Amino acid sequence: MTGPGGAAPLPLRIAIVGAGPAGLAAAWGLTKPLPNGALPNVAVTVYERSWRAGGKCGSTRLPPSHRIVQNGTHYMFGVYFNTLEMLEEAHQEIQDGRFGSVQDLVPRNLIALKHFYGGAWTNWKFELPPRGSAFPNPGGTPFESPEQYLTEVFEWLKKHLTDGGVLIVSSALASLLDLLIEQATALALDPTNDPLMKLLAQTLKVARYAARLLLGSKTDLKSVRARILIDFVLTLVLGILVDGVLKGQIAQVDVWDFANWMKHHGAEQETCTSPLVTAWYDSVAAFENGDPTKPRLSAAAVLQTVVPALVAYRGSFAYQMKSEVGEAFVAPVYEALRRVVPSPVLASVVIVLTAGHLIVGAVVGFISLFVSRGAAPAELPAAPGRRP
Ligand SMILES: Cc1cc2nc3c(=O)[nH]c(=O)nc-3n(C[C@H](O)[C@H](O)[C@H](O)COP(=O)(O)OP(=O)(O)OC[C@H]3O[C@@H](n4cnc5c(N)ncnc54)[C@H](O)[C@@H]3O)c2cc1C
Repeated sequence: MTGPGGAAPLPLRIAIVGAGPAGLAAAWGLTKPLPNGALPNVAVTVYERSWRAGGKCGSTRLPPSHRIVQNGTHYMFGVYFNTLEMLEEAHQEIQDGRFGSVQDLVPRNLIALKHFYGGAWTNWKFELPPRGSAFPNPGGTPFESPEQYLTEVFEWLKKHLTDGGVLIVSSALASLLDLLIEQATALALDPTNDPLMKLLAQTLKVARYAARLLLGSKTDLKSVRARILIDFVLTLVLGILVDGVLKGQIAQVDVWDFANWMKHHGAEQETCTSPLVTAWYDSVAAFENGDPTKPRLSAAAVLQTVVPALVAYRGSFAYQMKSEVGEAFVAPVYEALRRVVPSPVLASVVIVLTAGHLIVGAVVGFISLFVSRGAAPAELPAAPGRRP
């Protein structure tokens, strides 16, 4: 499509409804330079019905204390590769210390679950190891092959049990974990080797049985937790292998509730009711109509979100934001988008905050039709921004 007089091509006009993280990320992605370095010829308008961007990640400071007001604490996870990359790019573009920097993200690697056993609640803690670094963005493919993660998981399990004093290095169970590491490593080199995958599944069952023999009758907290952890990890991997999840067969897992799926693959009842399983229901309030007696969480959702978050993170498992999500994430991205300089041939973004007024929204949206085709509007800074 060309403009008047056949001069500059008209931009592709795109409307995005909602300036929550999804809307902002869409605007970001649509206006990013193309792989050949050229700018996409798009004019993006984001329509937001509230008075601020951020959606459920929005936050406000209210006088007189100016403390942050928001719906609850937010974390970014180390597996949010695209989000972290966008945030880093936004900071690079705005170069404005008032918006902080990615260094303000505080790494968090400790997971503490509440565990009820023997009539008492105690903390069940896991310290996850750092995995490389998230900043500066190292580039490349963020994910390893799924089979490589299996090796890492078995190595972590063995170390966790050994460090915790539950596993004796020379024991039969330790040898079985070594065998699992060996087989997973071989599978990573030859992922289509079905007989090897079946062998690994058999070894998982044998190791799980050996752990039950070793720890099944123990009642001390350390042994009980080791027993549950081994049962959880080995059953989870077994289910992934048996159901063909590594081959992309996730739809058949989606019909299962997570705890029932674990039971189906042979997990003990004790494991299925343990915090290793129930924490994921609690963390996202996965209960039918909010009824805590009716937990419902898709096994596929756990495999596609929780599991990658636990095994595939870059840098740290999670990041806490010093000034919370509205200021530490939404504001820099919003600011960088605002600085996109409108022009007929360059990518442009207009964000329309309507505070719920349809007429205001319609008028501003109508004006933005001309703004993004013509000269820079008054409210957008003429200073160099995201696009030169
Ligand atoms: C208490 C709480 C804690 C959370 N903690 C975390 C966390 O720690 N880590 C994490 O990753 N996620 C967390 N989340 C989830 C995260 O907030 C959401 O996943 C995210 O906000 C979803 O983004 P979104 O853009 O899809 O939707 P939203 O954030 O809901 O944004 C949608 C936007 O669209 C606007 N809108 C809707 N309809 C219209 C319309 N017709 N016209 C114009 N605008 C419209 C809304 O006003 C809103 O601004 C948490 C959520 C809550 C509630």
